[in-house]
Amino acid sequence: MCIKLILVLSLFFSLVFVFFIFFIYKFYRKAFFDSVTNLYNQVYFREKTLKLLKKNTEKKYSLIATNIAHFRTIYGSYGPRLGNIILRYFAKCVSLIRKDALVARAKEDKFQILLSYKTKDEIIDFLEKLSVEVHKFHSDEMSTKLFIRCGVGLLDGKVGFYNMLSYVELARKEAIKHGIVYYFFNDEMAQKLHKEKEFSDLMEGALSKGEFKVYYQPKYDILTNQVIGAEALVRWASSKFGFLRPDEFIPIFEQNGFIVEIDFFVLEEVCKMLRKELDEGRKPKPVSVNQSRMHLSQPNYIERMQKILEKYNLPKGLVELELTETVHMDLRKACKTMIELKKLGYMLSIDDFGNGYSSFPILFNVPIDTLKIDKDFLYSVGNLKIKEVLLKMVVEMTKELKLNLICEGVERPEHVQFLLANNCRNAQGNFYSSPVSQEDYLKESYLKK
Ligand code: C2E
Ligand code: CA
Ligand code: CA
Repeated sequence: MCIKLILVLSLFFSLVFVFFIFFIYKFYRKAFFDSVTNLYNQVYFREKTLKLLKKNTEKKYSLIATNIAHFRTIYGSYGPRLGNIILRYFAKCVSLIRKDALVARAKEDKFQILLSYKTKDEIIDFLEKLSVEVHKFHSDEMSTKLFIRCGVGLLDGKVGFYNMLSYVELARKEAIKHGIVYYFFNDEMAQKLHKEKEFSDLMEGALSKGEFKVYYQPKYDILTNQVIGAEALVRWASSKFGFLRPDEFIPIFEQNGFIVEIDFFVLEEVCKMLRKELDEGRKPKPVSVNQSRMHLSQPNYIERMQKILEKYNLPKGLVELELTETVHMDLRKACKTMIELKKLGYMLSIDDFGNGYSSFPILFNVPIDTLKIDKDFLYSVGNLKIKEVLLKMVVEMTKELKLNLICEGVERPEHVQFLLANNCRNAQGNFYSSPVSQEDYLKESYLKK
């Protein structure tokens, strides 16, 4: 009886123990491994990598971020079953080429690989082989061929592991952009990132310290040689970097969102100037300001724009907004916003007209005031006859639609002749004047020649 009891009890405890081990194992797998591919998950990958880097200081390691091109579309079209087969296939390819590579599935089709190497060529060789193997994937269900896109960084001590994790992502995006298999994170990218960080750290202080300046580039009537208005263009007189042109900082501000504040600053400066001129009894000419497409995603854009007009109480027609159409624009939303801006009393101008994006949907739906021909139209080489025909068509169209037309980037006497010959009467560009300070603009603007 006693032996029986002992046997039952030991069986019971053995079962409990087995369940306990099983449960621990399950928990361990879930905590550290990806259930689809059996690869490490990101948390465990990071932990393992840091240990390896610490332990094998004599070895050189590279970090690779990779993904399967168009995986989302494949997943969407062929479903999760095939999607998961592809993910497992990728994992098999890596281990086939380099057994010692540490691989993790980060998310979806994104993988991270830690690879030891002796020479850079060894990494390239690995990536090329991996690309070939992945490309070999075949399924009766799908005819699409698979491609990989990889961002590579060398963990050579210059950049820490955690920073490199995000840098290889940027390099991967470069590979996607160029449609190539791999892209190495390089010094140029590092410098760019450093600059972006420095600019982002300093921008708010710079705005409150008055380091941003509004310059004005006069617009001219070619026939009378008179100033008809101006475009306001921002400059950064930085105490740290010197005098900066917008091309150096606007793309960064577009990314970090600060462009919204810069645009409002420029608009306020312009309104202030116009108000002062009116108050002092002069007749200022219209000024245009650039508006980033980022405003379209701001919930309070229209309210802020309204408040500024009310604050300075300017007559209609003195401030024009230059808007550029881009591929990523939500056209319906853009048109709606533009109509509201127009109702508030702003004039509207389509900037960079003819630079490749079609502005026609905006033209159809929004009461635009001005078309501004992109400067590349003048600079592009090619068939002059076609250029002439195009310009004539645009001139005719704007006449028909009662729109103002201006060509920017007028640099040389030939440009002026070309515009004149084709009845485009208004011009802006360095031939007449480069952007100048407010003081210089006002002097020029009232000058009778
Ligand atoms: P954009 O709006 O197309 O402005 C015209 C640019 O062409 C200006 O460059 C101007 O200086 C330049 N330009 C004028 N005449 C000539 C010429 O004869 N030849 C050549 N090669 N260039 C000429 P800038 O001031 O460097 O501005 C560059 C771009 O930065 C602007 O292009 C605009 O997209 C952006 N930007 C400038 N200020 C602002 C701003 O306050 N807000 C926003 N959102 N963007 C701005
Ligand atoms: Ca512009
Ligand atoms: Ca332009």
